[in-house]
This record gives sequence, structure tokens and C-alpha cells, in this order.
Amino acid sequence: MNRLNLLNLLNLLNLLNLILVTGTAALAGIMPLSATQPREPVTVLRAGAARVDITPAADASLPMSGYASRSEGFTAIHDNLHARAVVIDDGRGRRAAILTLEIIGVHEALWEAAAARLEREAGIARDHILLAAVHTHAAPTLAPAPTMTPEVAQQRAGYSRKVEDAVVAAVTNAVSALQPATVGFGVGKAHVNTNRRASNGEGGWMLGNNPDGVSDKTVAVIRFDDTRGEPIAILTNYSVHATVLGSANRQISADLAGAASRAVERHYAGAVVAPWTSAAAGDQDPLYRVGTDFRNVTALGHILADEVIRVADGIRGSPRARIVARQTIVSCPGKRTVQTPAPGKPYTFEDADPVPIRLSLLVINDMALAGVSGEVLTNIGLRLKRQSPFNRTVMVTHCNGSVGYLPDDAAYEHVSYEITASRVKPGCAEDAIVNGFLEMMADLF
Ligand SMILES: [Zn+2]
Repeated sequence: MNRLNLLNLLNLLNLLNLILVTGTAALAGIMPLSATQPREPVTVLRAGAARVDITPAADASLPMSGYASRSEGFTAIHDNLHARAVVIDDGRGRRAAILTLEIIGVHEALWEAAAARLEREAGIARDHILLAAVHTHAAPTLAPAPTMTPEVAQQRAGYSRKVEDAVVAAVTNAVSALQPATVGFGVGKAHVNTNRRASNGEGGWMLGNNPDGVSDKTVAVIRFDDTRGEPIAILTNYSVHATVLGSANRQISADLAGAASRAVERHYAGAVVAPWTSAAAGDQDPLYRVGTDFRNVTALGHILADEVIRVADGIRGSPRARIVARQTIVSCPGKRTVQTPAPGKPYTFEDADPVPIRLSLLVINDMALAGVSGEVLTNIGLRLKRQSPFNRTVMVTHCNGSVGYLPDDAAYEHVSYEITASRVKPGCAEDAIVNGFLEMMADLF
């Protein structure tokens, strides 16, 4: 081959390479195909994760959350509670944080305090934060209550500060640990949840086990790896109340959410942080529910963890770093139930203040995380997944606020606990949530 032919061949190879690179990048959505549009530079993801203990002092006499019948303090600590954070960064100043807390909910004051501090102390804009609770009913109460004695109120305030400090520490530690990373997504299934809106046999509805009711078994997994392919964080999303433990339990525990997180972390030799998030689970209880047997907590936690590990092991991530976040508040007319319905009798409600529902959208590449500040029932989560332009849509509930139950429109016809407890009048929450997200997603896909 003479020199001229060799140069021609090299030029041809370069041209082919350019076509391949440009084509692949365009397929991946990194660069626009049109030459007239400015080319967005390819950015590389960085990720960091951290876990901080939020277990209350063993001698604190804090009341436990979640069951109205239980007003005494906890008696022992069964397993420690944690804040877990994943921070992602696109290398160009755009940074987002996903945090989970092993408590019952993120009440509005906690959200406001945490968001303000994360903005100030960790440089994360409030609309780039997803702060979600796992909804364990075996953690201390965080929200103030008028029934608390001054001593309990003081302890509660102290514990609340500890949780806020842990949120900031988890995020700042995760920021310090930022390193080049990949992110990927996978789904599996686990038969750990069941619909809990059950017939009471007298024409009414009660909290129970309704295996024929709607139930989403999807286990969604988001995996963040370092450049050697070792996991930094593995995030789980599943639709179930963390209520294997019931009102007779007096021990502190993160319930099945904690059991699942710890089992995933143990599997990867403790080097990974494994936050657990609740999908639309307002009407979903665990198969073993509201008891006191910790073996059931472990069993269901391990079923979930085994599926998370199986799914995570099949995920191959991308270093692409497209991070977009949006937040909005939609408002629904409020109600207050004035009569608990007896079977066959209509329940009544009176007008109450409108209910603001915070919708927090975090898009990471082709994944959409949809945070809702309440307990969303399954059908709303399913409808969002069906209508979302993102195939990979995950609803994160108990997120950035806590306005209680958010039923779909049809659910109001079966007057269960979720309906009487909901602060939202029928005919609003479903469209407000789904359309609220679809509007924010519209120009992003
Ligand atoms: Zn609940």
C-alpha cells in the first residue's frame, strides 16, 4: 500500500468513526441530530452516598408514631434508624440529592427546615431535593402534638434537630464522596405487599387483607456504580406500608424497609448505601401485618432484598449525566370527616382548608423520579406510569412533605380508613398529581 492510499484509508476510518460516534451519541440523546442546534457537551456523572445514624437515645421517652392507640414512650431499640443519601452531580454545577429517613413521614416543618439548610450548607437547590420517609410505624414521633407534656415536647424538639442535622451530614458526606459514576435502572417483582382495603362482610370496608384488590408488585432498582463497576448506592422503590409491626410493638425499628436496606448493604460487604423508598402504597400493607414478631420483618425484608440484589446484578449503567429537576404545588379542596361511617350509612364531611400537594420531579437521564408529599393509593401510581413519557418512571411517596392519604377518584366509592382519613375531597387528587407531573415532564423527554 503506498503512502497516499494509506492516508486515504486513515481519512476514511476517521470519517467512519465520526459517523459512528455522532450516530451513537444522537441515539443516546446526548447530541441533537440537527447541525443547526448547538451541541450539548457530553457530561459525565458523579455520585456519592452516605448513611448517618438517627437512632434516638436509648433512655429517651419519646412517643412512637403511626398508631393513635399508642401514646407511651418506646421501651427498647430493636434496630437502629438511619438517614441515607445519594448525591449526583453533572460536573457542570447541577447537583441533586435523594434522601431517605427511617421515620414515619416528612412533616412540612421538617421539609422546610431541611430544604433551607441543604440549600445553605450543602449548595443543593430545594427543587433538586427528594427527602422521603420510609413510613415505619416503629420510630419516634417527629411532629409536635398539643398533647405532649413540656418534657416530652422538649425531647421531641431535640430529636427533631438530630434528624435535621443527620440530613445535612448525610448530604455533605455524600458530596465529599462524589466520584465519577454510572447510573442504571432495572425492575423485578416481589410478592410482599397486598391490597388492604377489605370488605368487612357487612357492606363496609376495613383495614385488612384483600388479595383480589389492585396491587403493584414492581421492585424498581436504581444502581450507581464507580468506574470499576463497584456499587456506590442501590436505591429500591416498592409499594408497601412499612407496617409489619403494629400498635402492640414498643420497640424502635425501621421495619421491613430497614431490614431490606441492611440486607442489601450486607450483601455488598457494607461498601454500598441502599436507600429504600415507598412507591404508591397508601392502600398496600405487608403480607404479615401489624404484629409484633420481628421474624416477619426479617422475612419480608429479605424477600425484597433478594430481588433487589438479583435485579441490581443485571444492571449495566451509563456515565451520562443529564439531571433536571422541577417542583410544583397543586392544590385540592379540603375536607374533614365528621362521622365515621357505619356499614350502609353515608359518611359525611365538612369543608376544610385546601390541601397543597408538593410534586417533585427529578429526571436522571431516561429515569423520572416523581416525589409526592403524601400517601398515594396504587391506582394513581399505576396511571402515572402508564401515561408518563418516561418508560422508567418511579413514584416516591412520603416525599418533601406529608399531607396524608391521596386516593384515586374511584377509591372514594369504597369508604375505607384511607378515605375517611384523607384531607382531600373526592375528584381532585388523581388528576392533580398525574397531570401535574405530565405537565412538568412534557418538554423534558
Ligand atoms: Zn400510612
